[in-house]
Amino acid sequence: MASPETRYKRVLLKFSGEILGSETAGIEFNKLVAFSAELKTVHELGVQIGLVIGGGNLLRGGSFSQNGVDRVSADYMGMLATVINALAFQSALEQCGVDTRVLTAIKMEQLAEPYIKRRAIRHLEKGRVVIFAGGTGNPYFTTDTAAALRASEIEADVLIKGTKVDGVYDGDPMSDPNAKRFDDLAYIDVLSKGLRVMDATAVSLCMENALPIVVFNLTEPGRLLSLIRGEHVGTFVS
Ligand code: UDP
Repeated sequence: MASPETRYKRVLLKFSGEILGSETAGIEFNKLVAFSAELKTVHELGVQIGLVIGGGNLLRGGSFSQNGVDRVSADYMGMLATVINALAFQSALEQCGVDTRVLTAIKMEQLAEPYIKRRAIRHLEKGRVVIFAGGTGNPYFTTDTAAALRASEIEADVLIKGTKVDGVYDGDPMSDPNAKRFDDLAYIDVLSKGLRVMDATAVSLCMENALPIVVFNLTEPGRLLSLIRGEHVGTFVS
């Protein structure tokens, strides 16, 4: 059972592939182990954790298809990239002593279980971190949308997006020093202002299901734990 010190009982975490490495570095396993140690601190509080991992450090279908590869094939390649990341993350979590299961949206039964909602919930209830791999299993979608979908399906209390910046800004904080960070936002403002929280399909799905989103900086140690304990960390969208 989740400890009374936590605000959330069941969370869906979304990590972009770029958190794990880059298109040149691929997967930096030491980073995965560091994030896994962060996750462990939350897991030890009894919080049920689902994880959706992107594939942008290895391949994004949209940009790869510009080389001439058919878009649908390129998107499947992107989905396979998320499976590669998921297996690496599973290994890192296991090194930290956290029990995990990988569930794939595309069947690959030699290496992971197929995604079945009831099975995912059973694993969560047994205290296993569930890694949802392969996105939604459909081309033309993103892992942000997969995260919104899985979070809705498993009835997570919140969708937490871990990024390299500490929330949502009205500009690009990397290039614009005057960019202002939002503490709180309404879904509709994210959509109408075209703010870069998640893609519009993902935000719409969260809005329809009244699923709150939190965007925070995953690379700052301890932030995830503070957020789970109820501190206002990053930007809240509701
Ligand atoms: N993808 C897809 N359908 C999905 C999820 C992902 O086709 O439901 C493909 C798509 O090509 C995408 C790639 O997988 O570019 C990697 O996912 P994403 O770009 O969301 O990764 P991130 O940016 O989070 O690292």
